[in-house]
Amino acid sequence: MDRPLLISTIMDFAADYHGEREIVSRTVEGPIHRYTYRDARDRAKKLANALLRLGVREGDRIGTLAWNTCRHFEAYYGISGIGAICHTINPRLFSEQISYIANHAEDSYLFLDLTFVELVEGLADSLSSVKAYVVLTDETHMPDTSLPNAMCYETLVGAESAGYEWPELDEWTASSLCYTSGTTGNPKGVLYTHRSTVLHTMMVCMSDTLGLRSVDVVMPVVPMFHANAWGLVYGAPAAGSKLVLPGRQLDGESVYELMESEKVTFTAGVPTVWLALAQYLRGSKSTLTTLERLVSGGSAMPRALTQEYEEDHNTRVIHAWGMTEMSPIGTTGNFKPGMTELPAEQRYDIQAKQGRGIFGVEMKIVDDDGNELPRDGEAFGDLMVRGGTVCDGYYKGEGGESFIDGWFKTGDVATLDPDGFMQIVDRSKDVIKSGGEWISSIDLENIAVGHPEVVEACVIAVPHPKWDERPLLLIVKAKGSGLDRNAMVEYLSDKVAKWWLPDDVVFVPELPHTATGKLLKSQLREDYRDHALPTIDAAE
Ligand code: AMP
Repeated sequence: MDRPLLISTIMDFAADYHGEREIVSRTVEGPIHRYTYRDARDRAKKLANALLRLGVREGDRIGTLAWNTCRHFEAYYGISGIGAICHTINPRLFSEQISYIANHAEDSYLFLDLTFVELVEGLADSLSSVKAYVVLTDETHMPDTSLPNAMCYETLVGAESAGYEWPELDEWTASSLCYTSGTTGNPKGVLYTHRSTVLHTMMVCMSDTLGLRSVDVVMPVVPMFHANAWGLVYGAPAAGSKLVLPGRQLDGESVYELMESEKVTFTAGVPTVWLALAQYLRGSKSTLTTLERLVSGGSAMPRALTQEYEEDHNTRVIHAWGMTEMSPIGTTGNFKPGMTELPAEQRYDIQAKQGRGIFGVEMKIVDDDGNELPRDGEAFGDLMVRGGTVCDGYYKGEGGESFIDGWFKTGDVATLDPDGFMQIVDRSKDVIKSGGEWISSIDLENIAVGHPEVVEACVIAVPHPKWDERPLLLIVKAKGSGLDRNAMVEYLSDKVAKWWLPDDVVFVPELPHTATGKLLKSQLREDYRDHALPTIDAAE
């Protein structure tokens, strides 16, 4: 039958078949809130009625600046349910980028958490398309604000009835919009459709992708403003899983407390969050008693951290890779037959790779002339992807150079092995080109953080008169550590080829990150461009 693939069917499925399953949120106001998928559908329908009353029509963009909570969840479904576009904005961006994005998208309303009222008050004059601001709170917590036409979410929704039939939209109708966190140039918009979202939901629920089940308790630590929380806020209701939304408290202790109290079995987030949690667990001598699977993506998951979760907490670490442009999941690192029985060291080698291609995403690696390279785990080249969940251009036609003959050029350099596992060698602009050969900054970082006194490591290229570029290792060391340059080089020396060893090691109090938690290497390259490598004199 020609039935459209619509996001509203996910909400209906959850409410009809898993109506009593809970959504638990740590609210921005503080207390834990709980209700069911049935309640959430009623509220999303009330919101739909409220939006229509405000004059919102199909195709209109509604911005959100919000954490993972039930109100944001309702906004996802209420907005797309009427055919409007839910435009999630990353609040960690610079304020000029936030205004650029909201203006570029021409958002007509902006939904915001209490946390961001002050931020948006400062920007309101520059937001030319926004007609009114909806603060995601109740009357009791509604702040006294200078925002023009500020409304209280609970008052808005409370006045409506839950009587509403989701319209039967065309499945190609746009549903949501998310801007990429490019480190250079203006952010670019990726527009998703109902069709791409439902396809992605089915793909991520498959057993060897994320394998969500009704018995799972799913906690997306990855924010809903980062590539749709990697599809989990659609996947969990489509599977009937209990959903735990951690709000704004993403420190190790708060994440741990919620995981234990709600008996979370499945979680997903960036390595920085898993690092903070691991530090907390070590310090407090606590263990994860219910967590079965931990998905890590967004940047490379350090091998040592995977080992720690597997050995100390009996938690399976699943490395995942994806991009905003891909809805976002592209690969996940579940084991194939026989791999679980391998010696631990070999298993960790497999888990350090970014994962296997999933059904629905085609991948290939190509050389500079576009010729396909072998899938032998050795050859590396530009990673290209295509599929029904990959965008075919950026919003308003920008950034066309990334789309070549029906493929999307990811900007990542990778290998593909005969088992289908992909490994990122580097972001193409981060790779270090030394004497015509390549050094993977990711590999070096991964090994450096294996040192027990290293908290975070970053490797960048520094210009070199003889070799073009040489690696510089920047390290944030643990409090009280006496680690020095020589000891660090010594530590690396039996783990990498001699010519990969960094020419210098610099200890820094902290490293800069992008709004999605990736190392901001463009800034560091700029800061250290003139760094005097001790090897330069010798070369001259
Ligand atoms: P974003 O669109 O913000 O999710 O960023 C996508 C980019 O993040 C990819 O092109 C990769 O460069 C990087 N990335 C995502 N996942 C991983 C991973 N597991 N390992 C290394 N890099 C990753």
